[in-house]
Amino acid sequence: MVEILRANEMGFCMGVRRAVQIMEHESAEGRPIVSAGEIVHNPRVVEQLEKVGVRQLPGPDEIAGDFGKATAEYVKNERVAITAHGVGEKVLRDIESAGLEIVDTTCPVVTRAQRFAQKFVRDGWHVLIFGDPGHKEVRGTIGWAFDKKGEAKATVTAQSDLSHLKKMIEEFPGGFPNKIGVMAQTTHKMEAFAQFVSNLMLLQRDANFEMHVVNTLCHATTGQQEEAAALAKIVDLMIVVGGQKSANTRHLREVCEEQGTTTYHIENPDQINPEWLKGKVRVGLTAGASTPDSSIDEVENRLIELSQS
Ligand code: SF4
Repeated sequence: MVEILRANEMGFCMGVRRAVQIMEHESAEGRPIVSAGEIVHNPRVVEQLEKVGVRQLPGPDEIAGDFGKATAEYVKNERVAITAHGVGEKVLRDIESAGLEIVDTTCPVVTRAQRFAQKFVRDGWHVLIFGDPGHKEVRGTIGWAFDKKGEAKATVTAQSDLSHLKKMIEEFPGGFPNKIGVMAQTTHKMEAFAQFVSNLMLLQRDANFEMHVVNTLCHATTGQQEEAAALAKIVDLMIVVGGQKSANTRHLREVCEEQGTTTYHIENPDQINPEWLKGKVRVGLTAGASTPDSSIDEVENRLIELSQS
């Protein structure tokens, strides 16, 4: 029989739980809301919210130009909910200008990162974000890093290795700024961010160079990654549950694989291949920050069922 072990910390984080609760509460109060884009990167959660009346509209990612004006065409008597990933300042102003009411569920950890980006630019620093340039949260944070002339003062890079950073510095349009505010996408891995910062320091030894590093990593995510890594070390197989588009779930899988443990990332129990459990003694279970308890329980029950067959 295979033993199934759960990570000490996994599943819904504070930010996602809060966003879902706000939307459920507002809908139950009879004050309809629509969500600007996918609420969280988890199809199950999106489906559950649709059942209580939360409509989902195309988000700022899908609509170019005046987001507020375009959104107003879809909205009836509803208010517009900003999702936990947050949006840029222009998107917020567009919605307000279109006369729509906003329900802001941006995670406080993301808001903190946005405020830092805004402050850096106001103080004349260039913002350098270690993260995925295409991720919703990152694009929202960049949206707070525009100067008074409307010029973007942020650069995003997903890689931390010396050769990539050297190239970035050498080819930086107009020369690499000598005042850099460094931040990370909130769900990034701590080790990777530390390497990013350390490599930047190795490359930029100019006496005039100033680097202000802000730890914008999310404690919930860091804690989940540490617990997943600890569990991965003592099991033969790790199962990570979460949406395929969820960045923090992908990072959990990477963390487990870094321990040398075979790891599978699944969204639901139907994706478990019974062959995976053959010859295994212990199987670890963890889940991304946007994965509801019900999904984790279903996967655990299926694993228990298979382990007894
Ligand atoms: S993972 Fe962290 S930053 Fe992202 S929504 Fe959850 S608490 Fe907020």
